[in-house]
Amino acid sequence: MKRSDNKTTPNQDNTFTSDIVHFDRSMPHVNGGVHYPIHPSTQYNYASVSALISVFQGKTKGNSPYSRQGTPTTAVLEAKLAQVEGGDGAIVFSTGMAAITASFLSLLKAGDHIVVSKFLFGNTASLFNTMEGFGIEVTRVDPAEVINVESALRQNTRIVFVETVANPGTQLPDLESIGELCATKKIIYFVDNTVLSPYLFRPKAIKASLVIHSLTKSVAGQGQILGGVVINTGLYDWSTYPNIFSAYRLGDSNKWGLMQIRKKGLRDMGGTLTSHAAHLISLGLETLAIRMDRSSETALKMAIFLEGHDQVKKFIIRC
Ligand SMILES: *Cc1c(COP(=O)(O)O)cnc(C)c1O
Repeated sequence: MKRSDNKTTPNQDNTFTSDIVHFDRSMPHVNGGVHYPIHPSTQYNYASVSALISVFQGKTKGNSPYSRQGTPTTAVLEAKLAQVEGGDGAIVFSTGMAAITASFLSLLKAGDHIVVSKFLFGNTASLFNTMEGFGIEVTRVDPAEVINVESALRQNTRIVFVETVANPGTQLPDLESIGELCATKKIIYFVDNTVLSPYLFRPKAIKASLVIHSLTKSVAGQGQILGGVVINTGLYDWSTYPNIFSAYRLGDSNKWGLMQIRKKGLRDMGGTLTSHAAHLISLGLETLAIRMDRSSETALKMAIFLEGHDQVKKFIIRC
């Protein structure tokens, strides 16, 4: 059921919702329920001490022995979100901000430089101010023109960060050209796809390396659950990234980036999503397509109404 990865609109073959709804049944679990069970336990049993140590050290696969790094329930949500973005792995967090903070703090160190859009969700922009205090250099540019990004690059630039559609100003970066630039320069292209959702746009198609979502918004969709995710698209060659600790340079290099984000960002920083929240977000994902179609339709109707209204001249959003 894996769809081809290079489409900008994931639903071109109309299987987006079917793939999500049937996903849980493809994961082996007791009693065969159509939804994967909620696993609330904080610890998980192992047949032997050596088996437990091996999983703890990442040498063999298995449920994380202690749930700060995830549970079987969060693992299913991670697999589902990786699938909808055409990625090869994902990590869920307690909020979107936890996902962003954990990713940046796991991948950067003092003396590194990042280029970020000057049109961003306010709390993300505020986080970059904090990071400057830790010795990370930040350049803010208008990403509508790729030349603005290119001329900001330095020898020590590690990440370029944009939102596919900025919240709240709706400014658009030149997503494709920035993707080409980052691929050529071997810089991580980190894209926040929250506003469009994985249903309307797939950043892998514009060569994103990492994709983040606040799951609190369209994905969960119910206004009752906070959550976030970072997804590895599989396009970035982590063996070229200088900040991977030797402990995580083991096995398949495609996994190194997410391994470091899980160990530093979840195990050490602790912004973990609970199994109950993961289950509710999974349910939300099942109706994402229907809700996005309806909200797109409503937004268009509203825009047409306001455009033709004699009391409305123009909306200007100031950021
Ligand atoms: C809401 C939002 C976030 C933060 O997500 P939380 O789940 O609220 O922490 C990040 N980026 C964008 C674009 C958002 O809209």
